[in-house]
This record gives sequence, C-alpha cells and structure tokens, in this order.
Amino acid sequence: MTPTEKEWTKSSWKNFTALQQPKWPDQKEVDRVLTNLSQLPPLVFAGEIRALKSLLAKAVKGEAFLLQGGDCSEDFSKVTAPKIRETLKVLLQMAVVLTYAGGKPVIKVGRIAGQFAKPRSSDTEIVDGVEIPSYRGDMVNRPEPSEEARIPNPKYMLKGYNMAASTLNLLRAFTRGGFATLQRVHSWNQEFVVQSPMGRSYERMAKQIEQAIKFMETIGISTDNPQINQTELYTSHEALLLEYEEAMTRVDSTSNGWYDCSGHMLWIGERTRQVDGAHVEFLRGVLNPLGIKIGPTYNLDDIKRLVEILNPANEPGRITLITRLGVKNVEKALPPLLRGMKQEGFHIVWSCDPMHANTYTTEDGHKTRNFNDILSEITCFFETHWSEGTIPGGVHFELTGDNVTECTGGARNIVDDQLFENYQTTCDPRLNAEQSLEVAFQIADMIRS
Ligand code: PEP
Ligand code: MN
Repeated sequence: MTPTEKEWTKSSWKNFTALQQPKWPDQKEVDRVLTNLSQLPPLVFAGEIRALKSLLAKAVKGEAFLLQGGDCSEDFSKVTAPKIRETLKVLLQMAVVLTYAGGKPVIKVGRIAGQFAKPRSSDTEIVDGVEIPSYRGDMVNRPEPSEEARIPNPKYMLKGYNMAASTLNLLRAFTRGGFATLQRVHSWNQEFVVQSPMGRSYERMAKQIEQAIKFMETIGISTDNPQINQTELYTSHEALLLEYEEAMTRVDSTSNGWYDCSGHMLWIGERTRQVDGAHVEFLRGVLNPLGIKIGPTYNLDDIKRLVEILNPANEPGRITLITRLGVKNVEKALPPLLRGMKQEGFHIVWSCDPMHANTYTTEDGHKTRNFNDILSEITCFFETHWSEGTIPGGVHFELTGDNVTECTGGARNIVDDQLFENYQTTCDPRLNAEQSLEVAFQIADMIRS
C-alpha cells in the first residue's frame, strides 16, 4: 500500500511503518498524555500557517528568501528568557543583513518552540564500555549518559508542549512589543560580537538603516507602522513524534482544513521520508508548509513521488526541499536533482542546509563542522542554481545566539582542540552568534542586488 491509496485521517499513519519512534515503557500512560494534549489549545493558528505559506510561495519565484535556523535540539533547561532572546537576536541580525543585501523580504523561521525530538542513526550508543539507548530529544528522554536517563517518558511530551507554549509566548512579545523594531537594529548585536570584524560590519550597516529611518521621519513619512516596529518569526521543527503531532492536529473552523498546530512549518527528516512510510502519510493530510530534507544518496524518482504525494495540487509554498548534500557531494548531486524537478514543473522553495552532511568527529570525540565546509556548500548551492536556471530560495542552519565553541573555523578560527571550551549542544554542533553573522554577510555578498 502506498500512502495515497486510502482516505487520510489524522491517525491513518498508524497503518504504515513509523521509523524513529520511542519505545515507551507504558502505553497507557502515553494514551493519557495524548488525550490531555489533544484537549490543550493549539500552539499556532491556521491563519498564521496560511500567511507563512503565501510568503513561501513568493520564495518559489525568488521574491522572498527563507532563513530557517535554531538549535539542532532544543534543551528544556535552556528555555529561559535570555536564551530565547539571544536566538531571536541572531536571527533578526542575519535577516536584516540578508534583506539589506538582497533587496527582498526575508522569511524568518526558527527551529524553535518544538524542536524537541531527534532521529538517531543508531538506537544505542556505547558509553564507557556500556551500551545504553540513544538520546532522542528532551520530549522523549534525557541526554545524560545513563541507562535510567535514556528511558523514554511520555510526560516529557506534555512538558515539551508547555515549553513550546512559553517560548512562543515570549517570541510573540518580543516580535510585536518593540524589541524587534528596526529602530533598535543596533541593540541586536551581542556584546561579545560588537568588537569583532563581523560586529563592526554589522554596526556600519545598522547605522545606515538608522539614518534611512531618520531621513524618512525628517521628510514626514511615518515610521510608526508594523513594517518598521514589528516582525514575524514563524516556528518549525521536525515532525518526528507522530503521536504528538497527531494530538496537535486540529480542524480549522474557517477553512475546514486540517492543520498541525504544533508549529507553523514542519519538516520531514532524511531518515523518515520513505514514500510508503508513516511520516509521509501523516504529513500529506495537514495543510502546513512542509520541508523535506534530501541527503546525497537520494533517489530522484523517490523525491518526485514524495512531492507528488505531499503536494498533489502543486501549490506554491507547500514544499521546501532542503538539500543537505555535503561539500564533497554537492557539485555532483545537486544538478541532476534540480534538473529532474524542473522538468516536472514542480513549484519548490529550494533551501540549503550546509550543516548535516558536513559533520565530523574530532580526535577527542567532539562532533563538529567546519565553517569553510559550510560556506563552500552554500556557495556551490547558489552557483548551481544560477547555472541551472532554478532559484536558490533559502538557507537552513543550526545556530545559537550564545558564544559557544561547537563548529570550527570562522573569523576567530576556532580549532579542534578549542571545542571543549564552551561545547554545550546535546546533539549537533551549532554556529555561534559571530559565525552566524559571518555566514549571513558571506551570503549577502553573493546575493547583493
Ligand atoms: C536535523 O535537522 O537536525 C536533522 C536530523 O536533519 P537530517 O534529517 O537532514 O539529517
Ligand atoms: Mn541536527
């Protein structure tokens, strides 16, 4: 059976194989949690999801650009006001750099307020000679390396909902309540970045924006409007835990359509995008914009089938294909994909995730990525699109506003044996605020209009 053969319901995914699901010790407890979740208010609203989809439809045509980023895996213990504010700041900074250079709106989508479940390449790991279950994200188990911490606990799904709700509450306050006003563009520069070359470039640009706003005010154009004073940050996460996603799926009373109200945009990972799998079945029935991760071993016919199943009406803005091919493969693997999909006439937002196929482990065991590899994959992504006549529509990063040492390279040239200094991630390595700003300036140079 393939996913389109039967009628969709929010639980029809249960008839298909669902990979990467936790092995809960007690199904009764899971059912109690899911009933509770299904009665709680939606985290995001159908109207907002539709607004994001129409912005993404612009990115299909090159009239807007998608910036998606945040933690690999959000950490419950870091759901605090300062951490949320720092992540928002770095996304706002990157967005303003890209808008200023590219001359088109930047659609800001956080890997935030719900990125709590992780697919793993192995079910177990060896720690100090002992095999224990892998960490699967804070919504499933805990990262500490002990057998006990790794037992899945369904109550963490409820906690995840609550963490997402408080994160969103603060994000909504920050983005609407004056913090994100362009008049404060200077204040988004983190203290530890201000004195760096990137920080100084940012300060110069911020000054120009401030002067432009002052000029508008001088000649009597009102700057007291939402375009200047407010911004929109949409949320996204990998739709991995299908029980949770189902519980958050609701019918919209205005359109009668089904929306997964756990986040605005959902993506389907490289490990769970099987054409006949449960994730594809679930996602084909909800109306959210969808991302699909594509790694270097993709099969072109599978990708075509996926896009047909998930977007039968070829609606622009519904599908974002997020290529994560790796610096070694991108030059070879990207052109046939772009050509194949172009031939079919699919409406697609093409986004580049330069992180996930560029991971390596250092001698002392830190999982890392090198800034130059990240930059090279992005450069090749843009150049390939330009030569194939397709549109590079966005980028996807794992990043944080903190001063972490998780990825090597960048202007401060972090090297392998400095990674221990401030290595905080519970999953994949993230760009720190300075590296994030640097990559934004590099992209800005490429897209300057
Ligand atoms: C991720 O985005 O954290 C991830 C696991 O990605 P992928 O599915 O591309 O490996
Ligand atoms: Mn990751």
